[in-house]
Amino acid sequence: MGELTRVITTDGSIVGYAIDSTDISNAACAVHKPSAVCAAALGRLLAAASMMGSALKTDGSITLRVDGGGPAGILIAVSDSQGNVRGYIENPQVELPLNQLGKLDVGGAVGAQGMLTVVKDLGMKENYSGQVPVVSGEIAEDVTEYFARSEQIPTVCALGVLVDTDLSVKASGGYIVQLLPFADPAAIDRLENNIKSVKPVSSMLADGMKPVDILKTVLGGFEVEIMDSRTAEYKCTCSRERVSVALGSLARAELEDMLKKDKGAQAKCHFCGKSYDFSAEDLRKMIERKTAREKQ
Ligand code: ZN
Repeated sequence: MGELTRVITTDGSIVGYAIDSTDISNAACAVHKPSAVCAAALGRLLAAASMMGSALKTDGSITLRVDGGGPAGILIAVSDSQGNVRGYIENPQVELPLNQLGKLDVGGAVGAQGMLTVVKDLGMKENYSGQVPVVSGEIAEDVTEYFARSEQIPTVCALGVLVDTDLSVKASGGYIVQLLPFADPAAIDRLENNIKSVKPVSSMLADGMKPVDILKTVLGGFEVEIMDSRTAEYKCTCSRERVSVALGSLARAELEDMLKKDKGAQAKCHFCGKSYDFSAEDLRKMIERKTAREKQ
């Protein structure tokens, strides 16, 4: 279980979210079998998505899609409003040498030539969607940029994933700290100073610090009130019905081809790896429905 905490400073200047997503990252690794650098990239995106999902005011979901043009391909993380997440990485096996700092080169794997797209589905007619250019592909900076440019919220975001030599995730998580409207300028200065001196978030987690401890450190000198503490997990929402709809949306020629060659189809969920079998009869029905719709 991941652990999520939200706090507010009692002076009303700052709201903060933090997550220990170690279990979530390990669950993602069990599905996607990523290299170390891809485990770090996906783990960071999942941590960000979970925190952003938990901030949704109504039931709904949030999708973060990073298409940075790097060798790892497209990354997707989806969170519900509880912070339960699922994720996908296009090329999970990509390996890269460590970067100049001796760290996993997440920015190199994700790439910095593309867009971060955030879609919020709040159950209304239209989804809210925002898009910003990828800054570095390191994810945290990209999320910060998204908040600054798309939502006009000054934000500090830190994400970290510590991958062990056996490719298990030792620690993963992050925090998002945001200035509220009318934040006290002195509070901003204090926060900036704190940020300069705090340890990397993966080190804090590896030291056994809980999300609330991390927030109290980042917000040192402030009085904080815990608004919410909850658990979240890696959880998929796929079903045979949903996969069937996705399969049915393929081109008729493709469906006919599957029917002819394979006498059926097997579709695998991108997020959890579960596979769903469809018989020749299922495919025939899908094609019939398509034909009926096209005649309308
Ligand atoms: Zn699934």
